[in-house]
Amino acid sequence: MGEFVILLGAPGAGKGTQAVRLSAELGLPHISSGDIFREHLKKKTQLGMLAQTFMDKGQLVPDDVTIEMIKERLLKPDCANGAILDGFPRTPFQADALLEFLAVIHGKLQMVAYIKVPAHILVERLSGRWTCPQCGRVYHISHNPPREAGICDDDGSTLHQRPDDLPETVENRIAVYHQQTSPLIEYFQKLALLVEVDGSLGIDDVTEQLLSKARGS
Ligand code: ADP
Ligand code: AMP
Repeated sequence: MGEFVILLGAPGAGKGTQAVRLSAELGLPHISSGDIFREHLKKKTQLGMLAQTFMDKGQLVPDDVTIEMIKERLLKPDCANGAILDGFPRTPFQADALLEFLAVIHGKLQMVAYIKVPAHILVERLSGRWTCPQCGRVYHISHNPPREAGICDDDGSTLHQRPDDLPETVENRIAVYHQQTSPLIEYFQKLALLVEVDGSLGIDDVTEQLLSKARGS
């Protein structure tokens, strides 16, 4: 039976950064809906082209295509023992679909970690985020810089800024989060699955909080 962990939080809260670390510590794959959309975009698939029209505006990709894409991913053999979900679910409808799906595959939702970060910090983190277009590794210009400026430590690629990290889109993404995703906090609270961590601390401190919650539950 697989054990699933959801990382919940606003754009820039640190979900991706922490998911990579939890994935290594807990031995579960990191599944990021945003990364999967970006892969599709790179390959110019039909799904990628559709997703781009929403991502560019900072809007959510429609639930039906997103849910299908994630289900397909979670059925791959590497998810047999569970997964760390980063960026999914993002609406109560997606959460309902996930819970139904987990019931079918006999997966257990071990915890939903809400990484709480004040709004002004989110903007500063997103505007300083640099990403490797090759491997997806995420850096921050001052909090988590690469060894050599502008170059990925892992594969030497030139880092870039995500187009949806531009200021106009960032504001919209945070608004969309408040409207459509933040109701999930109460949703999972009611199911007694929510744990909250202080995401305003340094990266190592946040990892420590998450690991102690994951191991204690
Ligand atoms: P999300 O996946 O929630 O959108 P990321 O993990 O991509 O967020 O983090 C957003 C930016 O903030 C990145 O540039 C990352 O390096 C940086 N970051 C993440 N966690 C922290 C932290 N605890 N303190 C400072 N910077 C952080
Ligand atoms: P992220 O990499 O998590 O910041 O996601 C980037 C963008 O991908 C979002 O702004 C959305 O347009 C889209 N996206 C990612 N995950 C989802 C999801 N679960 N539901 C709908 N859209 C999503």
